[in-house]
Amino acid sequence: MQQLISDLRAANIGEIRTNERLAPYTTWKIGGPADCLILPNTKEQVAAVIRFLHQRGVPWTIIGRGSNLLVSDKGIRGVVIKLGTALETLRFEGATVHVGGSYSFIKLSVLAAKEGLTGLEFASGIPGSVGGAVYMNAGAHGSDVSRILKQAEVILDTGELVTMQADDLQYAYRHSILHTLPGIVTEAVFELQVGERKEIAGAMAAYRDRRLRTQPLQLACAGSVFRNPNGGFAAKLIEEAGLKGKRVGGAEISTLHANFIVNTGDAKAEDVLTLIAEVQEIVLKQYGISLVPEVLVMGER
Ligand SMILES: Cc1cc2nc3c(=O)[nH]c(=O)nc-3n(C[C@H](O)[C@H](O)[C@H](O)COP(=O)(O)OP(=O)(O)OC[C@H]3O[C@@H](n4cnc5c(N)ncnc54)[C@H](O)[C@@H]3O)c2cc1C
Repeated sequence: MQQLISDLRAANIGEIRTNERLAPYTTWKIGGPADCLILPNTKEQVAAVIRFLHQRGVPWTIIGRGSNLLVSDKGIRGVVIKLGTALETLRFEGATVHVGGSYSFIKLSVLAAKEGLTGLEFASGIPGSVGGAVYMNAGAHGSDVSRILKQAEVILDTGELVTMQADDLQYAYRHSILHTLPGIVTEAVFELQVGERKEIAGAMAAYRDRRLRTQPLQLACAGSVFRNPNGGFAAKLIEEAGLKGKRVGGAEISTLHANFIVNTGDAKAEDVLTLIAEVQEIVLKQYGISLVPEVLVMGER
């Protein structure tokens, strides 16, 4: 690892931090260290890092704003990449917006609304990056990324930069081809529509009020823990099973929203994983439904 890190430093590919604790990089505020965290600041640097690691067979992991991640207590081996702030670019071209992979999805929705563009209202409460949203097909309030994405610029595991059209991403519920095709989204192009500023702002205010009423937003969490099963709601099943408020260590099923697990202060990833397993077991026993996590678990177990 030492040799790899000095070679990486010599390659001038952005800021490098070693043995970096990842908890502060996640909204759950949970997780052990990355052997090496790299923050490339240009597309060229991203491609150079990936090529470098690919040639040496070193595993890499991309993280966004860490709002859908459970990083294990032992942390992530190899290299973790997080796009630097210089990749937070934004350009409106009529109703089309070109936006960098590390840009805040919430900020993007607010600025699109200010431009009088409709289509991104659903994103106003999704605290991830554009890259993370493209990867996850993030969505809410009856819409998702697949409805507005035109294309995404992706750097593949070989270091090659490709433009993927929306169809190439094979979108489904909280799923894209990027779950099986390793790549880094450096830019996305969304096609919006010209709308009424007042209506857009009204919809966003209503969504915000609903979230404030129904989600534990003042506590460290990662949004919905489980995917909704076909035709149903994970939160409803968990609540009806009487699991609100159930605790393991510092992890607790939110008393406000049963599909959220909150970190009450000192939760470990193992606490969350144990709670997830217990919920799955109880819901399966009571309803015969297997809940599948929406949050992604990363790192050494
Ligand atoms: C309070 C709260 C509310 C939420 N509400 C919603 C909601 O309504 N709807 C919803 O869909 N989600 C919701 N989420 C979950 C989360 O915000 C989304 O899944 C978001 O899209 C994740 O983006 P991220 O940048 O945080 O990605 P991360 O959590 O950092 O990573 C998620 C996945 O994306 C990959 N990834 C990240 N960046 C890139 C990139 N540049 N290129 C390629 N892959 C990348 C990672 O490797 C990882 O596999 C919520 C989370 C919180 C905390």
